[in-house]
Amino acid sequence: MIIGGLQKCTLVDFPERVACIVFTQGCNLRCPFCHNPKLWSMECGSPIGEDIFFTFLESRKGLLDGAVISGGEPTLHGDLGSFLGKIHDLGFATKLDTNGLLPDVLAKLLDDGLVDFVAMDLKHTFSSYGRACGVEVPVEAVEKSLKLLRESTIDYELRTTVVPTIHSLDDVAALLPIVSGVPRFTLQAFAPAAAADPKLRTQKPFTVEQLESLREIFEPVVGKFTVR
Ligand code: SF4
Repeated sequence: MIIGGLQKCTLVDFPERVACIVFTQGCNLRCPFCHNPKLWSMECGSPIGEDIFFTFLESRKGLLDGAVISGGEPTLHGDLGSFLGKIHDLGFATKLDTNGLLPDVLAKLLDDGLVDFVAMDLKHTFSSYGRACGVEVPVEAVEKSLKLLRESTIDYELRTTVVPTIHSLDDVAALLPIVSGVPRFTLQAFAPAAAADPKLRTQKPFTVEQLESLREIFEPVVGKFTVR
């Protein structure tokens, strides 16, 4: 595991848990609105050693009860399963943030009981998926990951980062049949200042009020609808 960053505490990224966040190095997408392009490469100038992370985690027993594995894209790492297993062995719950491009990896993690919660990106409607990813995307992979989550017994969330140059509010509304029946669906406005694509840094994001205007269509069909 190549760890590019560590956030020592979050109250908002793992539902009902106080958690830390591990940011893994490397991503297979190039989303123009990505706010962490430093994590795109597998190379990291000064990675945090696993031993340092696990020493930290042991010291937080009783203070934290979960760990979020985010990125980058964590499923690119062949040792993700053993990393999650070690976190479980220390008594912490695990949450995986993923773009869903590697469903076979996700399937194995679910089969092995190594993830307690998954947050998966839903970048766009499936017919326009590549517009939000910066690269060509095998959209069937995302569909397969979503099917795995639907068939699993764990809690999960789909989340869409909304960018006015990439999504219209009608595009977002068109996600309705994809998200129907999921336990949690979140819309988040992109953060212009940190966007990977310099052209987006002067783009005004949708307001919370504009995204909230979609609540009436999503709230009846998902377990919990959130705008942030
Ligand atoms: S926003 Fe896109 S490019 Fe950035 S880490 Fe997530 S999947 Fe990768």
